[in-house]
Amino acid sequence: MTEGIEVWFKGIEHYAAGKPMVRTSDGYLTPWNREAIVKQLIRETKLAENFFGAPAISLEEAEEIAKEAESRILGMRAKFVSAPLIREIVNNILLERSEEKPVYAIYRNVLTRVGVPVYDAYLIDVGEGFEARENANLQPNPETSHKKKGDKVSKEEYLLLMNPRLADAHLKGDLHIHDLEYFGTRPFCQDWDLRYFFYYGLMPDGLGLKTSVAGPAKHVEVALLHSVKALASAQTNFAGGQGFYNYTVFMAPYLRGLSYKHIKQLAQMMFYELTQIYVARGGQMVFSNIQITPGVPDLWKDKPVVAMGKVGPDVYGDYEDEVRAFFRAIYEVALEGDWWGKPFNFPKLEGGITPEFFKPEYDEEWLLAHNVVSKFGTPYFDNMLPAYRGYGKGVSCYQCCAYVFTETPETDPDFNAKLYFEDGKHFSMGGMQVVTLNLPRAAYRAAGDDDRLFEEIAKLMDAAVEIFQIKKRWMELAVKSGRLPFAVQRPKDPKTGQRGPPAVDLDNLVYTIGVVGGNEMVQWHTGFQLHESRDAVKLLVKTLLEMRKYKAELEEKIGMRLAIARTPAESCAQRLAVADMLSPEFKDMAITVVKGDLEEARRLMAEGVRDVPLYYTNGTHVYVGAQIPLTERISIEQKFWPILSGGNIFHIWLGEAYPDPEALFKVTKRIATQTQIGYFAYTKDLTICEQCFEVSAGINDACPNCGSTNVRYWSRVTGYYQEVGGWNEAKKRELKDRYRTRISI
Ligand SMILES: [Zn+2]
Repeated sequence: MTEGIEVWFKGIEHYAAGKPMVRTSDGYLTPWNREAIVKQLIRETKLAENFFGAPAISLEEAEEIAKEAESRILGMRAKFVSAPLIREIVNNILLERSEEKPVYAIYRNVLTRVGVPVYDAYLIDVGEGFEARENANLQPNPETSHKKKGDKVSKEEYLLLMNPRLADAHLKGDLHIHDLEYFGTRPFCQDWDLRYFFYYGLMPDGLGLKTSVAGPAKHVEVALLHSVKALASAQTNFAGGQGFYNYTVFMAPYLRGLSYKHIKQLAQMMFYELTQIYVARGGQMVFSNIQITPGVPDLWKDKPVVAMGKVGPDVYGDYEDEVRAFFRAIYEVALEGDWWGKPFNFPKLEGGITPEFFKPEYDEEWLLAHNVVSKFGTPYFDNMLPAYRGYGKGVSCYQCCAYVFTETPETDPDFNAKLYFEDGKHFSMGGMQVVTLNLPRAAYRAAGDDDRLFEEIAKLMDAAVEIFQIKKRWMELAVKSGRLPFAVQRPKDPKTGQRGPPAVDLDNLVYTIGVVGGNEMVQWHTGFQLHESRDAVKLLVKTLLEMRKYKAELEEKIGMRLAIARTPAESCAQRLAVADMLSPEFKDMAITVVKGDLEEARRLMAEGVRDVPLYYTNGTHVYVGAQIPLTERISIEQKFWPILSGGNIFHIWLGEAYPDPEALFKVTKRIATQTQIGYFAYTKDLTICEQCFEVSAGINDACPNCGSTNVRYWSRVTGYYQEVGGWNEAKKRELKDRYRTRISI
């Protein structure tokens, strides 16, 4: 210690007059003051009132605890104490007394600190323990370090501020609360109505005070940039994917009179803008998707166009040629890929297969899409042909991580006004929160009894709904305190000068109950996996039907829109499997059904590693490694589709380097017209050489062009393409286990 500092210390000691000095958490040194503890207890236990309905602490109780804390701290004879230490001592006292007064346990929850040990924070900054793996879209950079630290604080906060029974259900792995780090700040995903921005213009901060405010776009380049920037801005207010339905249709009025070359240039601009704005949520790409059709759907043909701040007088039906040209241009650019020849992984292209456009006259367009599939695997197909999709009766879109949202005149009294953009009324479809249930665990508890199985699942659904109600409360608080400005913005109407309606109707967002491990659930319960027995399939169908029935009861009871869906399960397919393997109660059962590399996983788990190559099968899928023909997998999985109102995806893992596009198109036709599958994608693995930048098909140990082993891999993780290096160990193992199909005519 240098002399100067010693002198300074002495001075402070003197000032403290025998009592310690306190290093406060806002960065000051202040003399010891017992009264501060009393004030803090009274102030902060108000949260117990807000979140648990428990009374805040009384003045007498607070004084007594402060006295006890003072006597313990003075007993330490320290010259300095830190505010966090005082807080922990107070918390200890609360915990000690909570057996007599249970409410003290809640006080302790709201008084505790959230944060990370210094060592963990260091690891996040520059150490090897970088945890990018919950979301493969993240990669290490300074923004991400910041986000990771913020995520840790937030996750703890939200778990502490909910009923400990529910927090434990998540921690123990009965269920998984998705995007927990955003639980108290953001809704999940949103599919935007592009007409809104073409009528009102763009206000990226939602208030117009921090950013400049643009009027409605007059020129096509500006319209396109507004569409991109709207999705990027939305990422500041939402946790999940952002997209546009009818993208080709709503853009069309701006494309009139342009050459095809110009239109293609615009498509290229859209791809680059969406994959190079590397700013979303802690330095990641904007998670985006667009639904595209090669023509104007019948529903929209006679509706007035909304563009350049005006409604009408043209109708969308006048723009068939523009829509078709833009559709072509998008797939042509997708086929070229980026400067290195890599595919564009965003926006996810959701090609709309509808009765109007799945006809021979559009074969050329669809074949082009399948050329992209053959080369990169990236496109998705939204199949609206099966009757349960209710095509033509409403507006429906698949988006984000394969969730589906639908509006019809029955679900929405303003449906017709929205079609005509009357008084700025528009569609706003999306999800508020996803909670996924650990189905295998319900089966372990049921011990082979069907009724017991449904009861266990119903209990999990009850817990999910309780969590949704807490989420709803958080979102109401967020709106009330002005924390979701982009979502609830009310921009200036260019015609009346008054404020328009809010962009997003938060009350209308869907709460999704996800499922994971349907295959392992039936495997434990019946002794067979989905691909091994009809009874196994029947049990899963029956389970989903029971869930749907109970969902309707719950909706009635609580007045919330619920959906049951296959979950993206990028991290929870692993987390729930690992939680079962860690549990003394379920370990012996889990070990018989869990997928992955059991031996390696056990070795790692013995060392305390949690990111291990173990997983449950996603949603209601057949085990990825099941060696059965594609047709058989289709015939099993299609049965679950009409029941899963919230969304699902069917994966076709391609085995050939360059499958014939015509053969692929035939498979698509078969799936679209002869099955119940509503959304599907072909996944092709790619090797990218860091030496010569060659992009080759398959997982190659060395680059086929230059022989370098300095290669990276790209594939579809769950609902999007990303570099494999950022995947968790379970997903990497799944990639290895995938049984790939050869597409032959
Ligand atoms: Zn190479």
